Amino acid sequence: MRLNGKVAIITGGASGIGLATARKFVSEGAKVLVADINLQRAEAVVAEFEAAGSPGATAAAQVDVSKFAEVEAMVQRAVDVFGKIDVIFNNAGIAGGKALLDHDPEVDYAPMIRVDQDGVYYGILAAGRQFVKQGTPGVIISTSSIYGEQAAELAFSYSAAKAAVISFTRSAAYELAEHGIRAVAITPGRVGTPIINQFSEELRALFASEQLRNKMTEPEEIANVVAFLASDESNVINGTVVHVDDGYSSFKQRFD
Ligand code: NAD
Repeated sequence: MRLNGKVAIITGGASGIGLATARKFVSEGAKVLVADINLQRAEAVVAEFEAAGSPGATAAAQVDVSKFAEVEAMVQRAVDVFGKIDVIFNNAGIAGGKALLDHDPEVDYAPMIRVDQDGVYYGILAAGRQFVKQGTPGVIISTSSIYGEQAAELAFSYSAAKAAVISFTRSAAYELAEHGIRAVAITPGRVGTPIINQFSEELRALFASEQLRNKMTEPEEIANVVAFLASDESNVINGTVVHVDDGYSSFKQRFD
């Protein structure tokens, strides 16, 4: 029960890494606002917890993280329902991409930046203001990607947005430390979620081979690390990147 009594907002909480994290947080004693653009799925997650005997541990909120007013309303909803916030997991994201020279900027750049980059900035800003208003410490965890630290095929806009997440994390940690607020970014590698399961079996096998265990990471494995980062056990991890990529970023090629 490392998160006992803590209140967390999880964006993108209705699927994949966010959903696994919501489950983990509740199992560690937290109360969770499951926030997602897909309200139906967020409500289904809450129903799952209620059916499992955790009534009141979760609430659902619809949010489009690319809109600041909606992110502010999401934070306010968590405060209205649970009385405060202690943790925000800025995790909602979209993926995809095209070769740079084929880009239509309005289609292949702007939406990705609005969700994956602006959405994290808005979460940091809105939650940061709420932590300061409460006068309590807070933790801001944001989902970057292995692509935030390197170039990759068909990922021009995605990589830019995910690099910004790392930069935001450093700056937020620096600016907000005086208020007892920590900020940490995670860089998942290849995680078996809908975002990646849309690709062909062949491509998924290639993705798996890029990690040291030669398999896709389970969303629950990322959730375990996020729970640690949200807890007081990780108080010295601040303004930095935690690589949750099964070695992806540490090696280049297998010879077997
Ligand atoms: P997912 O598609 O299962 O979950 C993403 C969730 O975000 C969905 O529930 C979706 O409805 C929600 N969402 C999308 N746009 C939104 C918006 N504008 N506002 C609010 N919610 C929105 O994918 P996932 O793999 O769990 O992705 C979670 C995060 O992890 C993303 O930021 C993604 O870029 C990142 N990531 C994933 C992988 C991977 O291999 N799966 C690797 C690196 C980083």
